[in-house]
Amino acid sequence: MQSYDVCECGAPLRLVERPTPRPQGSEVLLRVLAAGVCHSDLHIWDGYYELGAGKRLQLLERGIKLPLTMGHENVGEVVAVGPAADRVKVGDVRLAHPWMGCGECKVCKRGEENLCLTPRNLGVFSNGGYATHLMVPHPRYLFDIGDMPAEKAAPLACSGITAYSALKKVGEPVLREEPIVIIGAGGVGLMGLALAQAMGGRGTIMVDIDPAKREAAKAAGAVATVDGGASDALKQIKAATNGGAWAVIDFVGSGQTARLGMDALAKGGKLIIVGLFGGDITVPTPFFPMRAMTVQGSYVGSLPEMAELLELVRRTGAPPIPIGTRALEDVNAALNDLRAGKIIGRVVLTPAA
Ligand SMILES: [Zn+2]
Ligand SMILES: [Zn+2]
Repeated sequence: MQSYDVCECGAPLRLVERPTPRPQGSEVLLRVLAAGVCHSDLHIWDGYYELGAGKRLQLLERGIKLPLTMGHENVGEVVAVGPAADRVKVGDVRLAHPWMGCGECKVCKRGEENLCLTPRNLGVFSNGGYATHLMVPHPRYLFDIGDMPAEKAAPLACSGITAYSALKKVGEPVLREEPIVIIGAGGVGLMGLALAQAMGGRGTIMVDIDPAKREAAKAAGAVATVDGGASDALKQIKAATNGGAWAVIDFVGSGQTARLGMDALAKGGKLIIVGLFGGDITVPTPFFPMRAMTVQGSYVGSLPEMAELLELVRRTGAPPIPIGTRALEDVNAALNDLRAGKIIGRVVLTPAA
C-alpha cells in the first residue's frame, strides 16, 4: 500500500510504501475511494493550534505521533475483514466514522466516543485515508452511504458531522423559528448552511470576510450575507436577526469571530464555537447572567449523530457542497491551496481513481 505521511511537522507529506496490512480481530480493511482534505489537517500538519497571546498548543505533546497518515473524511470499499468483523462484507462501500474512543469507558459506552480521553481518531491519532488503504478497528464505525457518490459522502465524516452536531446544539424550536448566524463560509460553514436547510431551519445568515465565499453562500441559499471584516458587521447581523441572534455558530473560532458572535447574541442566545483558528477573548462575567447567554464548544460529533446525519441525508439528498476531486499524489498541492484560502467547498482525494 501507499500513503502520504507527515514525517516532520510542516514539511511536505512524503510517499511511503509498505506491505498492505491484514485485518485482525474486528478490523476491516478499506480500499480508499475518497478522502476529504480538511482545514484541521493544516493544524495537525503544522503540529500546533494557536491559543492567542502568542501561546500554542503543541499536538505532539497531546498524543499525536509521527509519521502519521492524515485524512479523516474517508469512504472506502471493504477489501478484507478480520475473523470477528460482522455487519460488513467484501465489496461493501462504507463511510468511516473517524471520531473513535477507547470503546470501553463510560463516555464511550454512552455513545460519545468523540469525547473519550483516549481518542483513536482516524487520521489524527491513528493512520487515515491519504493512502490507498485504510484500516478501521471495528465495523461499528462503518456506515452505508446508499447510492451517494463516494466523493460527495466523504465530507460528511468531518465537516458534515461537525456541522450537524453544532446545529443540534442550536436545538428546537430556535432552529425552526429564528434565523441563525453562521460565521465562516468555508467547507464546514457551507455544510452547516445546507444541513440547516435540510433540518427545516428558518434561515441562515452567513458571515465571511471573503467576497467569493459570501457569493458561494448566497448561491447556496443564505438569507443574508455579511462581511465579517466590515466596521458595521455587528450592526448588519443585528439588523438581519431582528435585533440579535438566538444562535451563532462560529466555524472560524478566532478571537475576533468569537467576539463578534457573542456581541451579536440576543438575550438568552447561544454561541457555539467550533472553529480552531485560535485566539482569545475577555468577557466581563456579569454578562453571562445579565444576558442569560450560553457559550458552548462543539467538537466533531458522536456515532449516534453520524447515524442520524446519514438518515437525514438519505431523506433530503447529499448536501450540495462544491466538491473538487484530485489525485492522491496531489495531496501537498491540495493542502497548500487550502491554506492559501483558494478552495471553495471541499477538495476530495480519490486514491482509487
Ligand atoms: Zn476535519
Ligand atoms: Zn472511551
